[in-house]
Amino acid sequence: MTVVGLDDTDSRERGMCTTYAAAELADRIRDSGGRVERLLLVRLNPAVEHKTRGNGALAVHTDLDADRAMALVRDVLDLAQTDDPRTNPGAVVADCAPDAVPPQVAEFTRDAIRAIQDITTATLLADTVGFARCQHGNGRGLVGALAAVGAWAALEDWTYEHIAYREADRWGTERAVDAESVRAAADRHYPAVWDTVDRASGYPVSVPRTPCPILYGIRGDDPEACRAVADAIESEPIDRRVTFVTNQGTDVHLQDGTVGAVADDSAYRVTGTVATAPETREGGHVFLSIADREARLQCAAFEPTKRFRDRVRALREGDEITVCGEVTDGTLKLEKFAVRELVRTEPATPTCPDCGATMSSAGRNQGYRCRDCSTSADGKVDRPIERDLEPGWYEVPPVARRHIAKPLVRGGFDGATHPER
Ligand code: ATP
Repeated sequence: MTVVGLDDTDSRERGMCTTYAAAELADRIRDSGGRVERLLLVRLNPAVEHKTRGNGALAVHTDLDADRAMALVRDVLDLAQTDDPRTNPGAVVADCAPDAVPPQVAEFTRDAIRAIQDITTATLLADTVGFARCQHGNGRGLVGALAAVGAWAALEDWTYEHIAYREADRWGTERAVDAESVRAAADRHYPAVWDTVDRASGYPVSVPRTPCPILYGIRGDDPEACRAVADAIESEPIDRRVTFVTNQGTDVHLQDGTVGAVADDSAYRVTGTVATAPETREGGHVFLSIADREARLQCAAFEPTKRFRDRVRALREGDEITVCGEVTDGTLKLEKFAVRELVRTEPATPTCPDCGATMSSAGRNQGYRCRDCSTSADGKVDRPIERDLEPGWYEVPPVARRHIAKPLVRGGFDGATHPER
């Protein structure tokens, strides 16, 4: 078996996309008599600044011998838009079965999903374990290419994306996709298929707006259901279609952290107590902070997270929550949170048991009394408060979801869930 990893073939302005390059490579492998076992779309650390969009790297698993696979992937990298200085394609070819890559390569994959890796580390590791490589520009694509090679051994949770590509002469033009047919098909196959349409806004999140060759991508847990949704969509002609196996929608980027021990450019799951109440600032971004005994951490729900901000605004000081998201400049960007315990009462001035009027202070540290009825109380009482939240997990809507973030509807969470669709 041979594993080919490739990355960084696309450019923000010029179109192209690495999934298309991988689909092209798979076709060329088949044309050369090889069998393609699967195509992996691996989402790496979303905090990487060099990413074009979703920081995706690709791997093709095949029985074609490694030398021939290398010759083919070299040709495919030449398709890359290398006149854009930010496009630095790389490919790694491993002469082994996908689940038999050396453990340090699988470790590298996990690190590339959760932190920042440098090009030298990737290059030295590929050379040490005897994988062939080729690259253009500064070779940054080798980081993603090597991570894609290690992914099958490194990860356990997999989902699917069925991507339909446009005919080349339409790239960069407006897409002709009938939104109603997308909505109807998405409804029929939910929740085996998710994040196809943002239901509240009606926005078809499966249809990109960038100049890339993708017409639409249908994501879900069941490849047949993804395919069935695609089959039901009315659209312009489709050039080719591919089902990728992917770590999208798995939360594999999250690591367990504590309030005082989080680093920039990584994503965490952190539990704490709401220390400063949510505050909406200019631009509609909502900020709050959580704390434990030692430290505080600022968290933010930015404007694009839309109605999720109402869930965040419903939190109060003293609530115990678990927050998930990437840390940038010391602030955790909320992707989801779990309510663990809600503050249910607040201290209030007592009312008179006889006349029902609010009592007044009887003097410093002397409790309260009702002047008319001569009744008294020792101090403030607990008054129940209405809460617009329940224990359990809340998430951003599909329109604001990161590729790698796990939709609540997939299940497996440690508490009740309140899925958005
Ligand atoms: P698309 O999703 O459209 O294919 P992209 O968002 O994947 O684009 P790329 O053009 O592939 O963006 O750019 C990401 C670059 O960052 C690649 O060169 C990749 O090798 C590199 N990279 C990926 N993960 C890491 C990481 N953890 N640390 C450092 N570099 C990384």
